[in-house]
Amino acid sequence: MKTYNIAVLGGDGIGPEVVAGAIAVMNHIAQKRGFAFEFKNYLAGGCAIDAVNDPMPQETIDGCKASDSVLLGAVGGEKWDTFPSHLRPETGLLRIRAELGLFANLRPAQLFKELADACPLKPRLIENGLDVLVVRELTGGIYFGDKGRDETSGYDTLKYSDYEIKRIAKVAFEVAMKRNKNVVSVDKANVLESSRVWRKFVEEVAKDYPEVKQSNMYVDNAAMQLVRNPGQFDVIVTGNMFGDILSDEAAMITGSIGMLPSASLAEGSFGLYEPVHGSAPDIAGKGIANPIATIMSVAMMFRYSLDLMEEADMIENAVAKAIAQGARTADIAVEGEKVLSTDEMTQRIIENL
Ligand code: NAD
Repeated sequence: MKTYNIAVLGGDGIGPEVVAGAIAVMNHIAQKRGFAFEFKNYLAGGCAIDAVNDPMPQETIDGCKASDSVLLGAVGGEKWDTFPSHLRPETGLLRIRAELGLFANLRPAQLFKELADACPLKPRLIENGLDVLVVRELTGGIYFGDKGRDETSGYDTLKYSDYEIKRIAKVAFEVAMKRNKNVVSVDKANVLESSRVWRKFVEEVAKDYPEVKQSNMYVDNAAMQLVRNPGQFDVIVTGNMFGDILSDEAAMITGSIGMLPSASLAEGSFGLYEPVHGSAPDIAGKGIANPIATIMSVAMMFRYSLDLMEEADMIENAVAKAIAQGARTADIAVEGEKVLSTDEMTQRIIENL
């Protein structure tokens, strides 16, 4: 029987709780479709600092490298907030991204029509729906450039090479081919040289995808367009810092952080999958976290890393059905609605598979 090896990094707070829901869904699908998953748990984040004084132990990195795919819950919490930077859970995340070569971050922001009330935009702005995928370059740009400071000044360097731009552009066009075939490349080419280079090489890659409509937009305009007319976007491709900001903006206009998945991809088909939300210390241990972001991250894993396309659709359809039937965890419920626990929501999704 085909067996997929999955490295599981539950992490802190609600991380292990939502990951448990995702694993239940994965096991159910595997049984139904005649394959299997082998899960291996590794330490990451605050729990790893407590256990071995390292937010991302080498054993975890080696385990991830040896796996077919990685499922991450969330890391962090107040307890570790005052630790020196090399001992911070976030430092562990940066390390694993670099070690696994995860250069492409995919964050879909999709609005379920039953949850339209959670969207902070006026109803008429989202009447055509909202389904945007931000493809963010994750291992280059200003966050990784030469930097420094003295008493009175500081600087950071924003540099992108043709190689980095072409490989992220290729990811964006490939996913656009599986979606609505529309890529908007976001830059600041009216001001920045690095953006002019960005635009040049994105347009070069676009020539290989004649079916995909490609256009360019300045980042300030893109920030505005996302709240003015989000329905115009399909895939947005952009650099590390612009992507950081725009993906949060796109996420928040759906209004439901507990629903949003993400994928971070390396070259080839390897990837790390995690919910967009953090460890939610305020609700950890109560069994009430929404598992949907993590379960939808598994759908992305199936699609982008394991080539299980039908099974990815099965998960997304089951989640949509559960929502349509009125299944709600506390974060997405409105007053008077019955509220489900993490396990109950997971079960409702499994029943719909
Ligand atoms: P958060 O996403 O953890 O929580 C923000 C709010 O959303 C909280 O009220 C929380 O209860 C709610 N929420 C989040 N996920 C939910 C879910 N699945 N179901 C229901 N409600 C949910 O963000 P924060 O409070 O800013 O950060 C908490 C900790 O998480 C910090 O230590 C932060 O550094 C860390 N963090 C980690 C990641 C990651 O692991 N990738 C990402 C963001 C934040």
